[in-house]
Amino acid sequence: MAIERVGIVGAGQMGNGIAHVFAVAGYDVLLTDVSQDALDRAVALIDRNLTRQVSKDLIDDAAKNAAMKRIVTTAKLTDLGQTDLIIEAATERETIKQAIFEDLLPHLKQDTILTSNTSSISITRLASRTDRPERFMGFHFMNPVPIMQLVELIRGIATDEPTFRACEAVVARLGKTSTASEDFPAFIVNRILMPMINEAIYTLYEGVGSVQSIDTSLKLGANHPMGPLELADFIGLDTCLAIMNVLHDGLADTKYRPCPLLTKYVEAGWLGRKSQRGFYDYRGDTPVPTR
Ligand code: NAD
Repeated sequence: MAIERVGIVGAGQMGNGIAHVFAVAGYDVLLTDVSQDALDRAVALIDRNLTRQVSKDLIDDAAKNAAMKRIVTTAKLTDLGQTDLIIEAATERETIKQAIFEDLLPHLKQDTILTSNTSSISITRLASRTDRPERFMGFHFMNPVPIMQLVELIRGIATDEPTFRACEAVVARLGKTSTASEDFPAFIVNRILMPMINEAIYTLYEGVGSVQSIDTSLKLGANHPMGPLELADFIGLDTCLAIMNVLHDGLADTKYRPCPLLTKYVEAGWLGRKSQRGFYDYRGDTPVPTR
């Protein structure tokens, strides 16, 4: 399976980073979104991020220009039919993702591999509604895509070995590292990371420590580059809550119950950095703990 042309559906936070790393690695990229505005913003952002990489000597000017030339945008989803690999990175809603795959199916080449960047939706269920569950799998990038080294590759129950190997080779060509995960709620990274963050929030909720002492403890006591509450603000508290709910519902184990304090912050609209307030208040020059 020679993969040279890649179709990316969704040009948001993840889609633009995915287009960026594929173009730098020499793939031809076709990027689509329902919003023309999202496509325009993605191209401008990729340009800025590539310029930053040039200024840091990570790539040269020629590589930047070549990468920009390899990215083509289209408002028409069905234009992606002739690509070798599709990475769906649209909004995290199952009905949206299902509709995208349904619309694409009649236009696909027979051997096109379908993948989703979903953080939480069952790969097996998405695959079962297509004509090629054996050539369907999870391709889970981390945010921010150009910086994070890992890609989790998720096998649905029907994913065949050549498909898995082909995606593994793609990740290697991107210069990233893949890990293999079976298709269970939250896969590997979030299955382990989110309960830790949730436990840090329980530690705060029960008054065991302040925001500052919890974050300092994990940074200096466990050598984590960021404290768990700082990290929760970075990810977005709504996203953290959604992933805890996926674990709680999908594994039916009370050990995954979301902390009521996390729910409270989300209800308040204090979602972390993106809303300028979460476990820290980001409206001033330096972040100030909110508890
Ligand atoms: P986002 O909201 O930034 O972007 C989603 C984009 O999808 C938007 O531009 C939207 O216009 C577009 N879209 C919606 N419906 C569409 C359709 N029918 N066809 C084409 N485009 C459509 O979201 P994001 O953070 O980039 O997340 C995208 C996917 O990546 C989700 O599945 C999410 O779970 C996953 N993911 C996110 C992160 C993260 O940290 N944000 C990390 C790993 C994986």
